[in-house]
Amino acid sequence: MNKENYNVSEEGYYGEFGGAYIPEILYANVETLRKSYKDILDDPQFQEEYHTLLKDYVGRPSPLYLAKRLSNKYNCRIYLKREDLNHTGSHKINNAIGQILLARRMGKTRIIAETGAGQHGVATATVCALMNMECIVYMGKTDVERQNLNVRKMEMLGAKVVSVTSGNMTLKDATNEAIRDWFSNPSNTHYIIGSTVGPHPYPDMVARLQSVISKEIKWQLQEKLGRNYPDYLVACVGGGSNSGGTVYEYLNDLRVKIVLAEAAGEGINSGRSAATIQLGTVGIIHGSRTLLMQTKDGQIEEPYSISAGLDYPGIGPMHANLACTGRSEVLAVDDREAVEAAFELTRLEGIIPALESAHALGIFRKKQFNPDDIVVVCLSGRGDKDMETYINFE
Ligand SMILES: *Cc1c(COP(=O)(O)O)cnc(C)c1O
Repeated sequence: MNKENYNVSEEGYYGEFGGAYIPEILYANVETLRKSYKDILDDPQFQEEYHTLLKDYVGRPSPLYLAKRLSNKYNCRIYLKREDLNHTGSHKINNAIGQILLARRMGKTRIIAETGAGQHGVATATVCALMNMECIVYMGKTDVERQNLNVRKMEMLGAKVVSVTSGNMTLKDATNEAIRDWFSNPSNTHYIIGSTVGPHPYPDMVARLQSVISKEIKWQLQEKLGRNYPDYLVACVGGGSNSGGTVYEYLNDLRVKIVLAEAAGEGINSGRSAATIQLGTVGIIHGSRTLLMQTKDGQIEEPYSISAGLDYPGIGPMHANLACTGRSEVLAVDDREAVEAAFELTRLEGIIPALESAHALGIFRKKQFNPDDIVVVCLSGRGDKDMETYINFE
């Protein structure tokens, strides 16, 4: 393999990470998906339908906005990729639209999903309403409580929300439950995974569906600056889908540096953190060989972050590889730094960001840029769902 190829291999690997470590009962499903996903995604009719919905339903292209006051403060040129303006409030809808179209093509009638912050659940419930499909969303009980507005939205959209009470009742546990459902209903059910995680081909499929973000960044920069690449791309990483979409078109373009923010929670070494890349070791989680937070004997450690969307003990295999090869620089941003960055963006630019996106903005406290550096930050979502956390943070 070319050393400078950061895309997935034919076998489903990014370097040593990825693959499809799945039980026999799911083999046929995953294998069918693996054989057909590229053909379906590349099919002109699929592309036409997908892009029409992205334009007329989601509201794409999302603006690339020069944040002047934020730029002045940090002495570089900061552009925000406004995924917060998408229908349903984040980048998650890009993937959900693509996968529901794919599920329909594959003759599936029942959709299941897992959700942490509830953003992916809302996006999935939304596209299920749109396409008249049955929708079951698994969500940890802790998240059901801290993201109650999103639960109400999913129910209003016609989805059934299953509150999961195993583990520490967050995203990892919801994912386990969704996989269990898939075992029991392999023929009629498509599992819409919400991030670049899970067995191959999911990480690549989700990254391709999110790559619309970097495709737009390319022509938008060309239009604004007369050059189609930035010096830096910045995004937060939970599983890696908004960052994956943001970097996709630039993966092998080494002029563009990649800076990723992961959630340090109360501090990397506090014991309450979700800094998977810095604390993780190699293991298998949800069908993929990647970095994860685990004890010496391989028990998954409970992650913690103030932001439900970053509260996952693993990381997508693409990002494990980018970090381990040095292609990306990973900074851990803690709860307080993220909340401060959220208030700062709100006061300087009049944009209330999602807590997850606020972690990406938190890197400006940790890293210096040059005045002529073009820095594109993926503003992955809006802050409506996090208002209670912002109001109550001390
Ligand atoms: C879910 C979510 C994330 C984290 O997921 P990724 O797959 O890493 O993008 C980040 N931001 C927002 C707004 C989210 O809803």
